[in-house]
Amino acid sequence: MILLLFGAPGSGKGTQSSILVEKNNFFQISTGDLLRAAIKEGTKLGRDAKAFMDKGELVPDSVVIGLVDEVLIDNLKKGKKSFIFDGFPRTVPQAQSLKEILGKHGLKADSVVFINVDSKGLIKRLTGRRVCQSCSTVYHIENSPSKISGVCDKCGGQLVLRTDDREEVILSRLNTYQAVADMLRKFYSVDGIVKEVNGDQSVETVYKSIVSSAEL
Ligand code: AMP
Repeated sequence: MILLLFGAPGSGKGTQSSILVEKNNFFQISTGDLLRAAIKEGTKLGRDAKAFMDKGELVPDSVVIGLVDEVLIDNLKKGKKSFIFDGFPRTVPQAQSLKEILGKHGLKADSVVFINVDSKGLIKRLTGRRVCQSCSTVYHIENSPSKISGVCDKCGGQLVLRTDDREEVILSRLNTYQAVADMLRKFYSVDGIVKEVNGDQSVETVYKSIVSSAEL
């Protein structure tokens, strides 16, 4: 099963991916997470990507396509069969490449799920988001704060605001997302696999909607 999950920054896409990984045995390929890991490791790819990410712009196609190909092949070899693509593809060339990459392995996208949320609440959700520098656990200063301000409950790491969660960058990311979502709806509508889910509901209800619309 190949599931493509889309949602604006702050739509709860990351949370839903984690639940799907835990409950439905998916392997998650999140290009945002892969790029942030490369930045943390200080690789050349990470350094090149950082300049784009800090501005809320898309990283060049060749960089992300290469990353995805590598991770997919690696995990197919390990026997993984179900994948969630989180935040990929984001351009037509990426969508075309994904089709080819999956095709090489006799696979295809089965469902493309959009988690739709009202954009007004998103800025508040994102500017209040704090991420642990060490273990990447996500908190929110109002909705799910850590016990001690600025300190991760799980590992004691420092909680920080992602550089691309600053308000001026968020607006650019939201605009980019809208354009990308429209383009992808068109791209995948010919296959009849596009599903829309209301993301302005409880985490549990959104999860159930994804399961039923993607027929998991
Ligand atoms: P995300 O965590 O999915 O919101 O991604 C964070 C940032 O990583 C984006 O704003 C982009 O700069 C970059 N990024 C993630 N996925 C892609 C992709 N598929 N194509 C290009 N850039 C990406």
